[in-house]
Formats: sequence, structure tokens, C-alpha cells
Amino acid sequence: MHNRWFVRGALTLALADILLIALGVRAGFPKLMVWLPAVGGPVLAVAAFRGAAALTEGALRTFWRRVSYGMGAVAAAAVSQTVDVGTTEYSGMPPIGARTLLLYVIGTILAISAMLRLPGGGRSWRQLTTAVLDVAVVAVAAGIASSQYVGWFIDRFGVTASAWWLNIAMMAIAVAGVVVVVKIMAASRSPVPRAALWWLAPVGLCGPLSTVLMSVLSPWPHLNGSAAVLPFVGLFGVLAARAQVRHLGVLPRSRRAAASRRGTAIPLVATGLTSLLLVTVFVRTGHLTVVQVGGTTLLLLLVVARQAVALAENAALLDTVANQAMHDDLTGLANRRFFADAVAGARTVVLIDLKEFRALNDGLGPDVGDALLVAYGARLSALARSADERAVVARLGGDEFGVLLSAEPDAGQGDFAGRLLAAADEPLQAAGHEVLVDVFVGVAEGDFADLYRRAELALRAAVASGGRLVRYDASLERRLSRRATIAADLRRALTAGEFHMLYQPIVELPHGRMVAVESLIRWTRSDGTVVPPADFVPVAEDTGLIVELGAWIIDTVCAQAAAWRRAHGPDALRSVAVNVSARQLLDPGLPDLVAAALARHGVPASQLTVEITETAVFGGGRALATVTALSELGVAIALDDFGTGHSSLGLLRTCPVDAIKVDKSFVDGLGGTPQQEAIVTALTGIAETMGLRTVAEGVETAAQARRLYELGYRHAQGFLFARPLPAGEIDAMLDRLHLAA
Ligand code: C2E
Ligand code: CA
Ligand code: CA
Repeated sequence: MHNRWFVRGALTLALADILLIALGVRAGFPKLMVWLPAVGGPVLAVAAFRGAAALTEGALRTFWRRVSYGMGAVAAAAVSQTVDVGTTEYSGMPPIGARTLLLYVIGTILAISAMLRLPGGGRSWRQLTTAVLDVAVVAVAAGIASSQYVGWFIDRFGVTASAWWLNIAMMAIAVAGVVVVVKIMAASRSPVPRAALWWLAPVGLCGPLSTVLMSVLSPWPHLNGSAAVLPFVGLFGVLAARAQVRHLGVLPRSRRAAASRRGTAIPLVATGLTSLLLVTVFVRTGHLTVVQVGGTTLLLLLVVARQAVALAENAALLDTVANQAMHDDLTGLANRRFFADAVAGARTVVLIDLKEFRALNDGLGPDVGDALLVAYGARLSALARSADERAVVARLGGDEFGVLLSAEPDAGQGDFAGRLLAAADEPLQAAGHEVLVDVFVGVAEGDFADLYRRAELALRAAVASGGRLVRYDASLERRLSRRATIAADLRRALTAGEFHMLYQPIVELPHGRMVAVESLIRWTRSDGTVVPPADFVPVAEDTGLIVELGAWIIDTVCAQAAAWRRAHGPDALRSVAVNVSARQLLDPGLPDLVAAALARHGVPASQLTVEITETAVFGGGRALATVTALSELGVAIALDDFGTGHSSLGLLRTCPVDAIKVDKSFVDGLGGTPQQEAIVTALTGIAETMGLRTVAEGVETAAQARRLYELGYRHAQGFLFARPLPAGEIDAMLDRLHLAA
């Protein structure tokens, strides 16, 4: 916003400057007048550079800060020169003090060193050598050319020889500056956008130009070469800063390419105009010799042309290289590398992973898949820009996208993630298909150096949990690190015998007599701490150790069932249930393993129940085949946590189910409104017509048990009846039941 005012201000000053000179050659005015725009221009540029520094981070910020110091020195020099002019009586060539010249030289050196210290700025040996050679050639040429005028100058204007040499030194440095800038641009993979560098190049030209204008304008004492050029130093500087700020919101590729092609012409046009001005002044006033004007113009033209020719050869190549380095080919968005560079300036990092993209890609074909990615990229850009016009939107590879929101969150930014999720309800148009694409979103915000990593953790957590949106917080980090320790420890725990099984009674209603048990695993570390199964079972699934652990569980539970049969008779317990996770069902060896365990311990298959979750078999395929094979063994199949997964009812037709375990969340709703009771009510009806047993899980109160019985439930499990217990306590309960009978 304020940048627009910088540009307007600098343009106004430059126009005022041209007007003053055009009027000045005809009529005189106070000699300090031209110094108003001359001081104002560089001051504006300093402000614009500092603005660019504030919006950037890392190497970029350092660069803009450094050039602002250089520009600051130039602004100080302009003030100093104003004082020189204001305090000295003169005619002809205006005075320029040693202090002023020193400030100019310092400014130029600071600016050049900022350029040279720019990271990634083509600093290979060969590039540096050619740059130095070019500088030397130009400096020598300038030296020789100007040395011819030294005597003439001293005679004519009475300038001291030392000041004149300082002047020449400054001119040489300024020309060197141009060459270095152009060199850097030619080889640049620097973080500073090329457009900004191109605007800075003419700033370097202004140095030598002022020296030339100084002598051209000497007939009019109220005009001044330095003053004529300084507003343009400011203007180009402000434009460079604007190019930087604009670049922060990545422009679409085509516009960028066009912008940089236009940029190529700028130094040429600037030099051309300068020469034209020179020639015009010469023709109108006749104050310079043809050789002087022609020679100076030629020198300037040569410098730029030399680089422009080299650039033209490379331009096409550079364009693609720069684009490939920073842009994703398919979507035209920024790529991972650009994103990783830009992340330092962001306050919010949002990472997005398209849900089940691989399945869509396989199903619809890679062309539609690509079109889908492009369409999603466009949607994401639009959403991001509406939240923050400087947002960076990138495709990070595959089906992963990223958005960086700026350091100054505005009103729309807050619920950006929410709007991403809402947008996922609208289908995307991809190559003639309408496709619904859901997303996982990971968000990290705040002033942290590792925002990117945090967002990655959040995204991973979203994918792992199947949730849509996860925001990073400290507890997430704790959970993940606990997960990592658990993963590292599981195998050792298995061989060290740190696992054991508990058994929770399943009772008959209304009296509450135990008729079966469900086995539940426990992990007690050697130091006595207990790790809950909800923490380590998913990790064991991820690492694949669940297969080995599962084999141990099945064997242990079968051995225990055999022991109870021996001690209390074959029918003391109708069944013993074992939980089998999704990952275990993918193992085609599971039915054989179960059959072998049953045979080894002499337990009939009908006495074992395998509890599986709906989601495990939802996709059909191998998991469903395993369940079918288990069922064919004679093992009972129970659907666990029934009602919490998707497509519960459809599953009852495809999967050989004997029992459903109604999830605790529905039991918790009992005794509430009819709506809350509706599912529990409906499920008994369905189970009954399909000939399934039902078990209500997580019954904690007598009121729940009563209501369940009223609704037709005959089996229940929960803390009201018994917590998960060691095998010995089940023995004791079986003994008591036997006595009671
Ligand atoms: P699940 O299969 O749904 O097991 C029931 C869980 O509910 C058990 O938690 C049990 O202790 C708890 N529970 C029972 N009655 C009540 C009640 O009245 N109130 C409340 N609040 N909770 C009750 P647990 O033992 O922590 O197991 C959690 C989950 O871990 C199990 O859920 C199951 O998915 C998994 N799991 C446990 N043991 C095994 C195993 O041996 N193998 C596999 N693959 N997964 C297991
Ligand atoms: Ca279970
Ligand atoms: Ca359950």
C-alpha cells in the first residue's frame, strides 16, 4: 500500500526535475531549487528499501538493508552537496566538496558490496573473473578518456586536481557497479527478483551520467549535474523496491516472463535517453566538443551493449532455468524450493494433501489426475489470495500443496483453513470430469523458526488420524515424540515379555452374568509405567510389528481359553474374543495362524470371536477375503465400534458378521432425547432381522443397562459389570458362578 505512494512520490520528483532543467536552460531561478527533488528522491528510495527489508527475511532482508545503507549515504551526499552549493559563491562549474564526494564514493561502494555479497548471485570463479575484467576494461577506458580533459577542466573551471581525481574514481566505481549488477543478473539464481535488479542497474549509470551532465549544465549556475540525476536514482530505487515487494506474491508464470523481457530493455533505453539528452544539450548550446559527447555516449553504450548481447544469448535459457528452479511445471505455482526459501517470511504455514489422490489418479487416468492438480492449484491460489494478497502458493510435489500467509494477518486470514475445508465440498472440473477432492490440512502459525517442520508434523498427524485439519501445538509434538519412542521400543518389549492380556467380561442382561470375555492387551514397561493400547497398537500397525504381536496375542488368548476349559468345563465361557487390527487382516497367513493356534491348544473355533472394525473391511479386497476365510474356519466375527465407521449397514451384507458391538458413544446417549436414542433403537431391530447378536459396549450405569434391556439388548460390556481383569480373576468369577449354579 505505502509502496504505491513511494512510486508516485518518486515519479513526481523525477518529472519536477525534468521540468526544472527544461525551464532552467531558458530562464534562471534560485540555485537551491533543483536540490529539492535531488534530496527527496534518494530519501524516498531509502524508505522504499527499508520497506522491502521489513517484508523480507534472511539473505533478502540483508540485501535490502545493505542497499538502504548505500542509498542512505547517497542521500547524505545530496544534502552535503546542497550545503556546498548553498554556502559557496561560484560561477560556471558548481562546487563539490571533498566531504560530498567521499559520501558518494561510500554510497557506491556499499551498494556494490551489497550486490557482491548477495548469495547465489553467480559467484563462480569464471563469472567473477569476467566481471573483474570488464570492470578493469571500463575503468581504464574511462581513466584514459577523462585524463585528456583534466588539464582542460582545471584551466576552465579552476577545479582542484584532487577533487577531479576523486570524481573520476567515483565515476569508475559507478560504471563498475553497472557491470557488476548486469553480471549478477546474467548468472543470477539470487533471491532478489531479476526485475528488481534490472531497476537497480540504471542507478549505477546515474553516477557517470552526473559527471557528464555536470559539465554540460555548467553554463547555468542554478542547474547541476548531480541534482539532475539524483531524482532518477530515487525513482529507480523505489521501482526496484516495488518489484521486490510485488515478487513476494508470486506472479503467474506468463506475466513473469513478460516482465523480465521488458526488463531487458531498461538499461538500453536509459542509456539511449541519456545520450539523446546529451546530444540535445550539445546541439543547443555547443558547450562540448563532438569527441567529448560522442566518446562518453559511446562508452556508456558499449558497456551496456556488451552485456546486453551476452544476455540476449542466454535469455531464453535463463528464463527456463530460473523457472524450473523456482516453479512447478504442471501448475505454474511456486515449487518446494521457492516455498522453502520464502517460508522464513511467513507467519502461517498451511500444508495440504489431497485425500485419496492416488486412487483418483489410478481410476481416472494420469491426464485427469494432472488436470485435477492444476484445477486444485487454481482453487487454492484464489482462496489464498483472497485471504492475503501476498500469499505464496506452491505445489510441493505429488499431491501436496503449501500456502504461506504473511506476517501481517488480516481479517480474512484467520479461518483460511476452515474455508479450505468448506471449498472441498465443491467438485472440481478436471478434463471433463466433475471430481470431489477432499483434503488433509496441517497448519502451523506464529513467529517460529521451524514453522515449516511444524506444519509438516501437523499434516502428518492429520493424515495418520484420518482427521481433516490438524493445527500444530506443543501436545502434538509430545504425542509424536512419544510415538517415536514407542516405535523404537515395541520389539524389545515383545521379547522382554512386557505384554500381557486382560479379559473384560461380557454379560447377559438383565442379571449381568458373565457369558464371554474380550481380551485386551496391556503393556507394562520394566519401570512400571503402563502404555495404553490406544497409544501403541496404532504404532505397531504402522511399523508392521502388529503381525508378530498379533500372533503372540492369538496364541496367548487360545492358551488361556484352553486353560479355562480345563478348569471350568468346556461351556463355562461361550466365547473368548480377540481384537484383530486392519493391518493384520491384510496378512493372508492370518487364518492359518488362527487355525494352528486353536488346534495347538485344543480350542474349538466356535469358541473364538475375532473383533474387527468396520473401516478395516470397508474397502473389501484382501481384508474381506481374510475375514471370510476366518469365518469359514468357524470363528465368530464381531464388528467392533459399530456405527462409528462409514457404510456400516452395507457391510452387513458383504461381510460374514455374527455379532455387532454397538459403540460406547451411542450407549452414552441413552436416557437422553429420542434422537439420541434413535441409533441404539434402530440397531437392535436391524440385528434381529439379520440374525446377529448385539453387544452394547461401555455400559457404566445401571440406568443405561436397564434402558438397553428395555430396547431389546441382551448382551453388554462395561465398567458397570467389570473392568478388564487378569485371567486369575476371571477364574475366580467362574468359580463363583459354578457355586451359584
Ligand atoms: P476396543 O476393542 O473397543 O476395546 C474396548 C475398550 O473400552 C477397552 O479399552 C476397554 O478397557 C474400554 N472399556 C470397556 N468398558 C468400558 C466402560 O464402561 N467405560 C469406558 N470408558 N471404557 C470401557 P482398552 O483396553 O484401553 O483398549 C482400547 C483399544 O485398543 C481397543 O478398543 C482396541 O481397539 C485396542 N486393543 C486393545 N487390545 C488389543 C489387542 O489385543 N489387539 C488389537 N489389535 N487391538 C487391541
Ligand atoms: Ca474390541
Ligand atoms: Ca469397541
